[in-house]
Amino acid sequence: MDNQQATVVSRATKQFFSSYNLARFGFFLFGIPKNSFGSVDVTNRCNLRCDHCYFFEQDHSSEWSLEQWRNKFESLKGAGIRAFQCSWVGGEPLLRLPLVELGRSYFKYNTVTTNGSLPLPDWKEVSWYISVDGSRENHDKMRNLPGLYDTIKRNIAATEGLKITIAYCITRDNYSEISASLEEWGRNPKVRSMVFSFFTPVRGLDDSLWLGWDEKDRIIELLLENKKEYGAFIVNSEPALRLMKSDRSRSVTDRCPFAEKSFALGPDGIAKEPCMLGPKADCDRCGCVVPFYLKSLTDRNYIIKDVVTALKSKWNNLFLRRHAI
Ligand code: SF4
Ligand code: SF4
Repeated sequence: MDNQQATVVSRATKQFFSSYNLARFGFFLFGIPKNSFGSVDVTNRCNLRCDHCYFFEQDHSSEWSLEQWRNKFESLKGAGIRAFQCSWVGGEPLLRLPLVELGRSYFKYNTVTTNGSLPLPDWKEVSWYISVDGSRENHDKMRNLPGLYDTIKRNIAATEGLKITIAYCITRDNYSEISASLEEWGRNPKVRSMVFSFFTPVRGLDDSLWLGWDEKDRIIELLLENKKEYGAFIVNSEPALRLMKSDRSRSVTDRCPFAEKSFALGPDGIAKEPCMLGPKADCDRCGCVVPFYLKSLTDRNYIIKDVVTALKSKWNNLFLRRHAI
């Protein structure tokens, strides 16, 4: 192996290890401890009624009191559960701030997923995921609230130093707006990243927003292309995106690592099965990024195959450069 070849291999190896921080590397070696991450439905209330909402398909008639939640978090701690990360979801979590304030101290990392219609508290240590699905026109239509898009922009503009990610759920109605949204939010200095999921059909609800596999594969290719330009601004990793494609998706969802490893608690403290999307979600057509991301972190065969593919492609590029006519 000459110097140049050695450099290519060493650079690719460094890249591999730098993209996996210590915790992720631990997951690679030892797997993800059960219940080390999960979600809490903060409230059964929401100030919106979106067309595609899975939450109100579920039966959440009551909410636990703060005291009941405190006992729950203490019992998780007492049981020695190494609480790593929690997503605070809903309903709209900002309608019940005291619970998020209480609960986030029990977890190392916290993500609050909000519809963005309310001002964001100045919590700098949490990650904020704000749902924005496409253009102003489409988003306001899906969320059934004219003016919402502009309200979200105002609420974001009013923040200082928060970790804000735009969470874009790709549907049949908005897939053509991905590039324009990337451009718009990519220019916004208050937004540090975007994450893309796909619409997951839920039994009993209209599934016309589902893209179909061919279209979905095409959009994944487009995201992979965009990732070359936007890099880490697009949170989805390349391996996780590739796992979402039609030829591999079932290898993840048939034994969903999200359902196997995480906890999902409803607003009444009752565990939701198999995951936060509830029992009616169509796992075969799951568009949630989490199971694919987890698989890409923990499946050793897949990771090794991915590293070999990356090395091969770098090797081929080097060979082509050297022998260019
Ligand atoms: S904002 Fe979220 S919880 Fe509220 S209606 Fe829309 S999808 Fe459902
Ligand atoms: S809906 Fe998706 S995340 Fe939930 S259990 Fe099914 S495959 Fe897993």
